[in-house]
Amino acid sequence: MKRGNEAAIDQAEWDRVKTRLKQEFGDSAYKSWVTPIVATALRDGEVELSVPTRFMRDWITTHYADRIRALWNGENPTVRKITLKVEAGKVEAGKVEAGKAEPAKPLQASAPALRPQAFARVPARPAAADGAVQPLGPDLSAPLDARYVFENFVVGKPNEFAYAAAKRVAESDQVSFNPLFLYGGVGLGKTHLMHAIAWEIRQRTPHRRVIYLSAEKFMYSFVRALRNQDTVSFKEQFRSVDVLMIDDVQFIAGKDATQEEFFHTFNALVDQGRQIVLSADKSPSSLEEIGDRLRSRLSSGLVADLHPTTFELRLGILDAKAEQLGVLVPQKVKEFLAHKITSNVRELEGALTRLVAHAQLVGGSLSLETTQELLQDLLRAHDRRLTMEEIQKRVAEHFKIRVSDMSSARRSRAVARPRQVAMYLSKQLTSRSLPEIGRAFGGRDHTTVIHAVRKIEELVKLDTAFAEDVELLTRMLES
Ligand code: ADP
Ligand code: MG
Repeated sequence: MKRGNEAAIDQAEWDRVKTRLKQEFGDSAYKSWVTPIVATALRDGEVELSVPTRFMRDWITTHYADRIRALWNGENPTVRKITLKVEAGKVEAGKVEAGKAEPAKPLQASAPALRPQAFARVPARPAAADGAVQPLGPDLSAPLDARYVFENFVVGKPNEFAYAAAKRVAESDQVSFNPLFLYGGVGLGKTHLMHAIAWEIRQRTPHRRVIYLSAEKFMYSFVRALRNQDTVSFKEQFRSVDVLMIDDVQFIAGKDATQEEFFHTFNALVDQGRQIVLSADKSPSSLEEIGDRLRSRLSSGLVADLHPTTFELRLGILDAKAEQLGVLVPQKVKEFLAHKITSNVRELEGALTRLVAHAQLVGGSLSLETTQELLQDLLRAHDRRLTMEEIQKRVAEHFKIRVSDMSSARRSRAVARPRQVAMYLSKQLTSRSLPEIGRAFGGRDHTTVIHAVRKIEELVKLDTAFAEDVELLTRMLES
């Protein structure tokens, strides 16, 4: 083993330290907090560790750094100090060393930063050394994803209100809005914001007991308690929390017994001035099969919605993710993705991860062409969602002509131009071939489609008002 001013990390030492940490802190804490750490250097008795996010750095510093130092010092007396550095790109290198038999290419280094197994349980109480009782079984609260923190949430017009509300609830020690009800479509960041609130509260006020779980899990626990005739302690558990967060409450719609129990729990907590945060895919008023009493209670606090993403937000998210991954993604590729993958952020992330993984494995740079090739299936799935019929309908509405004129033989400018726009958009926004497009427009020839596409491209350059029309239609169709 090397000693001295500047020495390489002795991996075997670090492995032994990690083994001890695992024994002492348990599997889940180990997975959440220790596996993402990469030991990078040993300098003047100071071990430098790098972790993927600032949040992890702070958490590890307060909770584990002392122990790591002590254990390491036991292995190697020259080690006197531990410092933590935030470095997204380092993570995978550690993982590769830890198990995979692949050489650690620099790019590979980051993929797991997007998907680390960094999950942590939210214990009912902070991991206090005083052996505090934990009234809530660990199975009650669901794991929190270490990546879902405020600093990783990209804010834009569609989500700024929900973000601000979440921030407010997380930062105020008193109950601010009760309940905070977040709603929005799939993959728009509800769960992310909820975890972020939970993390933040736990960090700011560790004595407050925070429980985060899905409505399904709430239901399941309740049904199990019923079966074990143990509803009293079930109630006690829930009613003794400071902050109760239930994700996807649409799942309890229609489940009467659970709903009733939830309603009582809810009331009891609100009456005691405890904070409640809920999420759903719909607003309280559109949640069907929910009793009126519960519905009105759900709407009695602050209701904040997450709107579908805009092009700008998607681009911002891609910028942030690429940076987190430490990968250079050409602007063109990002714009292409932001244009094409519009349904939700999860898919957008998935697409980026896939591109990055490919670039890492094959080692090539990312071009628009490779992107298109790699994401063919995904892009096609999206195109399927946007049909030519829909394009025709929207364009006809926009230019105030009849949809039937999209396929009619009329040639007057008033209908021919919109028809060309619709053809152009079909070409841009779907993966239909030229002959297919021609057929959808009253059995026209593919050369007519080519002509339409060229014509529109030309007009867009010459006429800004027209360009704005096309741009607007594109955005409308994409969202
Ligand atoms: P929901 O719960 O609304 O279905 P999630 O919170 O699970 O959606 O979000 C899906 C994925 O997209 C997550 O990985 C999340 O981190 C990411 N995501 C969503 N919105 C944002 C955002 N504004 N900034 C960064 N990541 C986001
Ligand atoms: Mg969710």
